[in-house]
Amino acid sequence: FAKECGRNNYQFFTRALHARAMERLSLENSLRVALERREFRLVYQPQVDAASGALLGCEALLRWRHPERGPVSPATFIPVAEDAGLIVPIGTWVLREACRQLQAWRQQGRMLLPVAINVSPLQMQQANWAGTVAAVLRESGIPPTLVELEVTESALLDDIDAAVEAVATLKRTGVKVAIDDFGTGYSSLSYLRRLALDKLKIDRSFVRELPDKVDDIEIVKVIIQLARTLGLRTLAEGVETEGQRACLVACGCEQIQGYLFAPPLEADEFCELLPLADAAAVAAQ
Ligand code: C2E
Ligand code: MG
Ligand code: MG
Ligand code: MG
Repeated sequence: FAKECGRNNYQFFTRALHARAMERLSLENSLRVALERREFRLVYQPQVDAASGALLGCEALLRWRHPERGPVSPATFIPVAEDAGLIVPIGTWVLREACRQLQAWRQQGRMLLPVAINVSPLQMQQANWAGTVAAVLRESGIPPTLVELEVTESALLDDIDAAVEAVATLKRTGVKVAIDDFGTGYSSLSYLRRLALDKLKIDRSFVRELPDKVDDIEIVKVIIQLARTLGLRTLAEGVETEGQRACLVACGCEQIQGYLFAPPLEADEFCELLPLADAAAVAAQ
């Protein structure tokens, strides 16, 4: 009986594994043609001052509409795109598209605010990644100071010396660099000190149970103190409630992003939030 049962289990698992592999392959094949079929678009989530709610900028987030399956989450397709080596051309498209969108907003009479863009570790590892970034910015005419690249801890930790060099080279192009999902990787204080970062984004997992979980309040305070010591801006991710916001302000967090203020928005919706360029000019007089 045990033998029978074992064999059935075995067949069950191989079948399940096979189904998963086929599913992945099917997604991969669809991703290969998604760029040329124009199935991607970007949405833009506001980043605001934690205390006043003033709009400071946004994060561009990639969306994919599969012709048959409909919307597929980035959590599902980004890992597949990374495995298939497709994240490099897709990532370049994201950068170019965000810059194109900034120019479009400018032409619609809006004052531009910085846009944050997510970067895969595989993009960072490209030999001439900084050169690509510089070229895309030059072609678009967007000042590099309006672009912030978000990299994750894991991207930086694989090879610390290479990461220090990659971030330094990127910074020479004039862009800003943020560390995303901070606290979820293996943070080491010595490597953080060596990286020329601008901003630290506190991961949503530390925000979720605020203000009730005392341990999380202490962790958030320590992270903010660390960021201050290193001269980095702080932004908390995934802020959904007023209680979380108030707690973060009390902890000294400067900026927030999350459903409390706004979910990721379509480009034309986000445009409505940008100040009018002529109004800004008048105010500056
Ligand atoms: P991330 O960079 O940490 O982005 C924040 C994620 O949190 C986004 O999920 C956003 O929609 C979601 N979010 C924002 N506010 C809230 C909130 O208040 N509550 C909750 N529960 N969630 C909130 P999204 O858009 O599904 O993206 C997931 C991840 O996919 C991103 O995490 C990022 O790592 C990756 N990603 C997205 N776009 C790109 C891209 O263009 N390139 C690369 N390489 N990765 C991307
Ligand atoms: Mg991000
Ligand atoms: Mg994040
Ligand atoms: Mg994330």
